[in-house]
Amino acid sequence: MKKETLKKFKKIFEKQRKCILFNDKIIRDDFSVCSDDRYDEIDQAATEIEQSMRMRLCNREMLYLKKVEEALKRIDDETFGNCEICEEEIEIRRLEARPTATFCVSCKEEQERKEVLTAAGRQHKSLGESFSRKYA
Ligand SMILES: [Zn+2]
Repeated sequence: MKKETLKKFKKIFEKQRKCILFNDKIIRDDFSVCSDDRYDEIDQAATEIEQSMRMRLCNREMLYLKKVEEALKRIDDETFGNCEICEEEIEIRRLEARPTATFCVSCKEEQERKEVLTAAGRQHKSLGESFSRKYA
């Protein structure tokens, strides 16, 4: 991949990372306020729901942050934009739509097809087991 393109993606990722870390700080600051305010019983239920929602959001952001960090590392290694399976360059249009993509379209499709097959195989097997248990 061209250095210029790498730079462009690096900027995107750095911006995303900053944004996630900033959100994360707000979430955590809010948490500490919440935990000091435990005396109001009525508010507590609402606070707990709110907290678990925030936690979930936070986890999702953390997962994405990890992907962003990995992508930044790949930019430094200059392996960014190469498919992890076939090592071909990932289509630039695909990367623009999904900068954290690590597989090219055909490998991604292949993988999804395998996942469907394993899921179907597993289901079939467990179905067979319960079937044989029932009629054994
Ligand atoms: Zn590939």
